[in-house]
Amino acid sequence: MGQAKNEMMRKEDLRGQAQRIALEADAVEECPHGTLLSTDDAEAENRAYAIATNEFKAGKVDGARKELMDAIKQVLDEGAGECYSCSKNARD
Ligand SMILES: [Zn+2]
Repeated sequence: MGQAKNEMMRKEDLRGQAQRIALEADAVEECPHGTLLSTDDAEAENRAYAIATNEFKAGKVDGARKELMDAIKQVLDEGAGECYSCSKNARD
């Protein structure tokens, strides 16, 4: 049981790291509501993966390189949507 919880926390850490990297690379931006939105910039996405590779090589990743890559892909995929509050404000 304890191990399952640790695994969950490790995945959360990876996700947090992926979000930070995506923000650093400008592959996503945070709207005023705290939603991460994709900037739709292929170069920025490549930069995010490059930063992730560097951090992995520097031993800053608590997991496999692919796990961090997958986490980044997930952040980018989720950011491809839109913030409900932002689109609502745009309409008002
Ligand atoms: Zn928003």
